[in-house]
Amino acid sequence: MNIRRLIAIWSGRLIKTACQITGKQGVTLAGKVALSIYPPILKELAAEVRKDTFIVCGTNGKTTTNNLLSDFLVSNGNKVVCNHTGSNMLNGVVSAFVLSARLNGHLDADYACIEIDEASTVRVLPHFKPDYMVLTNLFRDQLDRYGEIDITMNLLSRAMKMAPNMKLLVNADDSLSTYLAMDNKNPYTTYGISEQVFKDQNSKEIREGRFCKRCGHKMEYKFYHYSQLGDYYCPKCGFKRPKPEFDASHIDMSDGLAFDVKASHIKANYRGFYNIYNILAVFGAASMAGIPTKNFNKVLGDYTPQFGRNEQFFINGTKVMLNLAKNPAGFNQNIGAVMTDTSPKDIIILINDNSQDGTDVSWLWDVDFDRLKDANASSITVTGIRGADMRLRLKYVDIASDLENDIEKAIESKIKNGTKNLYVLVNYTGLYSTHNILKKMEGKK
Ligand SMILES: [Zn+2]
Repeated sequence: MNIRRLIAIWSGRLIKTACQITGKQGVTLAGKVALSIYPPILKELAAEVRKDTFIVCGTNGKTTTNNLLSDFLVSNGNKVVCNHTGSNMLNGVVSAFVLSARLNGHLDADYACIEIDEASTVRVLPHFKPDYMVLTNLFRDQLDRYGEIDITMNLLSRAMKMAPNMKLLVNADDSLSTYLAMDNKNPYTTYGISEQVFKDQNSKEIREGRFCKRCGHKMEYKFYHYSQLGDYYCPKCGFKRPKPEFDASHIDMSDGLAFDVKASHIKANYRGFYNIYNILAVFGAASMAGIPTKNFNKVLGDYTPQFGRNEQFFINGTKVMLNLAKNPAGFNQNIGAVMTDTSPKDIIILINDNSQDGTDVSWLWDVDFDRLKDANASSITVTGIRGADMRLRLKYVDIASDLENDIEKAIESKIKNGTKNLYVLVNYTGLYSTHNILKKMEGKK
């Protein structure tokens, strides 16, 4: 055993512990220091994974998909390395391996499930070659990053070429992900939803993949699921949605989510059409790797979503649902999830414009807020640094809202005098503070 490797691993652990004591997360710092002490650390540890390494990429749904896959593998009796906290750039990935290593410097793991930020794939893949890449979808993140989809696709394409034997699992309903898979030489498999689920199609929604990536012609759609996801084809060059290998059918969203895939009936206790994709991706990845899916529903039942992914709190008799909505596609999906609950409710929307949120909030105009008219909302409160912009956005579609600059006061007021059913939608930098406020309130009850 190389002594520098041991020092790198011990240092990473020490940093993590020191940061925890002082209340900081410290995950990326641990990885950064370990990598600088011993640059081959990631390569060597990743090579010690006994079976397969999965990486999960894509704009939305990465963390849920990756953590659910990891939970599923653990439930099958495996030891798994996973970057649960969502630290998904190079240092975060290094950290996941370093912090899983034993004090003797070796890794004891059957599988690795690693979520990687799309742009970081080209920095991570020189260190190890994954067996599988799950690509959830490619959406535009915020308006001020417009045009970055092409850059992201080029980076992913380069990453795929770095690991030519890596098998891809892509969302067939997303023409961008599918094109990437078809355009590269890696073997690929697809998942998707072939039945039309939503009858009312909103034609105003901005859709990313409107033009064929292969020939540039305008794409035709038999139907949309949401955003650019749906059954598409190019009338000019013949590029079209492939028939998915893992195809969800008999979808029922009346009580949580239920659907069939292959010979399995899947039942999950969460809302949100997008979660069907996350579950399908996990089911597909596990099946591709030859892992039996018998106990799949049990794992779904036990799964605790991450911060702000359908996170539930109970405070003085009020059910509070916290959800992260950081871009138009994610926001539209969250509105859809709110709409499937027909009982009276209060809604709080928090919009910040810090650099991680995107400083330009004009993306709010791409979200279909007019649908909230039919949400049976007895009140809508807007808050956050750009609460006033949010209020204006709602006013534009004739929806009245109250402005309360203090999120804590907004929540307290609805718990005291509300419908006992509260939805809180926040964008990125509001997530942790709102989560902590709700956690504190729940503890006090
Ligand atoms: Zn075409």
